[in-house]
Amino acid sequence: MTELPESFKEEMKTILKNDYPLYEKCFGEDAFRGISVNRLKTTPEKLIGLLPFEVSKSPFYRDGYYISCTEQGIGKHPLHHAGAFYVQEPSASSAVSLLDVQEGERVLDLCAAPGGKSAQIASCLGGSGLIWSNEVVKSRAQILLSNFERMGIANGVVSSLYPEVLCKRLGGYFDKLLVDAPCSGEGMFRKNPDAVSEWSREHVLSCAERQLSILDSASSALKSGGVLVYSTCTFSYEENEGVILRFLEKHPEFEMCEINEPFGRKTELPCAVRITPIENGEGHFAAKLRKIYSDNDGVFSCRRTENIKKDSIYISAERELEEIFRDVSGADISIKGDKVYLLPDMLPDISGINVIRAGVLAGEFKKGRFEPAHSLFTAFRPDAFRRVLELDINDRRTEEYLHGMETECDGENGYTAVSFCGMVTGFGKCSGGRLKNKYPKGLRN
Ligand code: SAM
Repeated sequence: MTELPESFKEEMKTILKNDYPLYEKCFGEDAFRGISVNRLKTTPEKLIGLLPFEVSKSPFYRDGYYISCTEQGIGKHPLHHAGAFYVQEPSASSAVSLLDVQEGERVLDLCAAPGGKSAQIASCLGGSGLIWSNEVVKSRAQILLSNFERMGIANGVVSSLYPEVLCKRLGGYFDKLLVDAPCSGEGMFRKNPDAVSEWSREHVLSCAERQLSILDSASSALKSGGVLVYSTCTFSYEENEGVILRFLEKHPEFEMCEINEPFGRKTELPCAVRITPIENGEGHFAAKLRKIYSDNDGVFSCRRTENIKKDSIYISAERELEEIFRDVSGADISIKGDKVYLLPDMLPDISGINVIRAGVLAGEFKKGRFEPAHSLFTAFRPDAFRRVLELDINDRRTEEYLHGMETECDGENGYTAVSFCGMVTGFGKCSGGRLKNKYPKGLRN
C-alpha cells in the first residue's frame, strides 16, 4: 500500500471524520475507471450495445459509466477512434453536471486540456451555442485540439492564452464558465502513486494561491446571471472551500448556488460537493457560484457577414466543399492564407485574439490543389457527405483503415468519409475500387 504523508492523513481525518478508516481501506482496492458518452456521435444506448465489455452507470453524470479496471487498450478500439466516448475518471465528470449546460449557451472551459470536461460540455450543447476551450500550456493545447477533432466538435474555439488576457478580452460574454484548476492532485493518489511523493503542504498552499488568481481572472468573463463552476481533483480544504471563501470575499458580485446533487458528500459550503473513493470516485471537489451583477456585460458583434466578398480562392473552396458535401449552402466559410475554415454560427468577433482554432479546419490549398483536412470529416455525420464507406466491427477493413493501410472501396471515385457504425472516423480517397488512406499518421493503431 502507498504510504501517505502524516500531515495529509491528519487533514483527511478532519475532512472525513468517522469515515476516515474507510478511506484508508480503499487503498487496498483498484482505482475507478470510466467513460463519458459523446452524444455528438452516438447515444448511450447505442454505444452500450456496441461495446465489447460491460459498463455500469455512474452517479456523477447523466452519460457517465464505470468500466472494469481490467479493460486495457481501450484507446485503440474503433469506437474510441470514432469519438463515441472519452475515457474519464468517473468523479471528474461531476463538475459538468453542476454546470448544467443548456443548448444554445456560450460556455468557457478555462483550464481545458486534455479535454474530458470540454468533451462533456460539447456533448451537452449538441452542436448548438459555443464552447471555448482554453489551455495555457501550448503543448497540452495541441492534445486538446486533437481531442476536439476526435469528438467532432464544430461549434468551438481552442486557444492557449493566459486566463487574465482571454477573460478581459471576452468580458461579460459567457453564460457558463468552468475553472477545472491545476491542483495538488490528492484525488489521484490511488491511480498514480507518484503523486504521493510529489505532495507537500507547501505545494498545497501554492496551488491555492494560483487557483485564487485564476478565479480572479475568470470572474470578468461571465455575464450577469452567469454560472461559474470551480473544480479540482484534490481534497484539501485550502484548495477547495478555502479558495471559494476567499474568492467570495473579494467578489461581492458572486453568490453561492445551493446544490442538491445525488452524489458525493456534503461540505461546509451549500454550493459544493466533495467526492472521495468512499463515494465511488477517485476524488473531486466542485462548487457552483452565480454572478449576480456585472459592470461589463459586453455587446459582442457576431463575425458572420452575409455579404462576404467572394474572391477566387473562396469560390474554389466552395466548389471543393460542394464535391464532398451534399449541401454547403449554410456553411460560413472563412479563408486564412491557404487554409479554409468553417466557422461556428455563434462565433464572436475574435479579431486581435490569437486562437489556435476557431470552428473546423476544412483543408488547405497546396500548390493550388485543395487537400481536405481530417477534421472536416470527423465534425459531421455520415449523411452530410456525398460518399461514405460504412464499416463495422466484423469488417476487416476497419482495422486496415485504422492501421493506415489502403483498402477496398466500391463507391464512386473521390474523397470519401469513413464511418464506423455510423460515426465518421476519418476519410480516404476512393479511386478504381481502392481507398487511399488519409487517416493521420499520429492517430493510427
Ligand atoms: N479540465 C481538464 C479535463 O477535464 O481534461 C483538466 C484540466 S487540469 C486539472 C488543469 C489544467 O490547468 C492543466 O491542463 C494545466 O496545464 C492548466 N494550468 C496550469 N497552470 C495554469 C494557470 N496558471 N492558469 C490556467 N491554467 C493552468
